[in-house]
Amino acid sequence: MRLLSSIAIIFSLLLGPALADGHGVVNVYSARHYDSDIQLYEKFTANSGIKVNVVSGKSGALEKRIIEEGGGTADLYITADAGRCGAFKSKGMLQAGLSSDAIKSAVPKNFRTSSWVGIAKRARIVYFAPERVTGAELAGLTYESLADPKWKGRLVIRKSNNIYNQSLVASLIKNNGKKATEAWAEGVVSNMARTPKGNDRAQIMAVAAGEADIAVANTYYLALMLSGKKGAEQQEAAKKVKPFFPNQDGRGTHMNISCAGLVKGAPNKSNAIALVEFLLSKEAQEHIVNNTFEYPMIAGVSPHELVVNMGLDFKQDLKTKVVNYGKNQAAAVTAMTGAGWK
Ligand code: FE
Repeated sequence: MRLLSSIAIIFSLLLGPALADGHGVVNVYSARHYDSDIQLYEKFTANSGIKVNVVSGKSGALEKRIIEEGGGTADLYITADAGRCGAFKSKGMLQAGLSSDAIKSAVPKNFRTSSWVGIAKRARIVYFAPERVTGAELAGLTYESLADPKWKGRLVIRKSNNIYNQSLVASLIKNNGKKATEAWAEGVVSNMARTPKGNDRAQIMAVAAGEADIAVANTYYLALMLSGKKGAEQQEAAKKVKPFFPNQDGRGTHMNISCAGLVKGAPNKSNAIALVEFLLSKEAQEHIVNNTFEYPMIAGVSPHELVVNMGLDFKQDLKTKVVNYGKNQAAAVTAMTGAGWK
């Protein structure tokens, strides 16, 4: 039997059909827009006999749909950013159950809770234009020091409604407190080279084009641009910037995750747990990192070569638990918008 025909892959946004119930299936609601994830689910089905139904969409639409369906449909919610998984949990939409020995031994404590766990990692770092930013300027750079007036008119970063920024600022609140972070946000806003616009790749493009000297963006985007998958223009732009990993003398660089959450009312709970365990296997992790340019969640797997080239010997912030990103999300938004961060 052909592999594809053995798998029910349902692509739908808000109008999809009711999902199959019964034995041997798991219903995944995924906001990850990677075709490569589908190949992973096919491997899982080949190994386990459990069919994977995928409902694909943007995180907001998927969350709304899961809430409206009221249980009994979605088993796993897969999305990017611990802030999203944490916020969904605080709405009461996730349940405990991802605490098997296999999961606990695969995922370090700071990257999991009982109801959602990291399946891959990324760092949110600084990119700089080497011809305009000196080594002396960069030495000892921290997220905190992005508010230093020496960066006035030189910094690009995306809007305050972006979840990656919200989680970064939430981590600053956890480490430095609300007051200090509000003052920090004001400093950052006054250093901006332009009103925030565009995605992470657009920030890197702005530095390459000379609009700014430093940008904040996630690690996998530089590798994605360098890979050529986003076209020659972005590939050339990516070659003009260099990555810098902040906070190396202190707690380490801000880390985030792609997360899988066990949905409340999941009709196929044990299959969902089995799928998460598979996603944390060496085979699946190698597939994930080679397609998405993320860092592996588990030890013993190498990231993609383009990510290795960015440097692997940096200190990760393993002290700030990612559960704080959701907890401090509202305060993070308040700090940013209060400072006039668009
Ligand atoms: Fe992203």
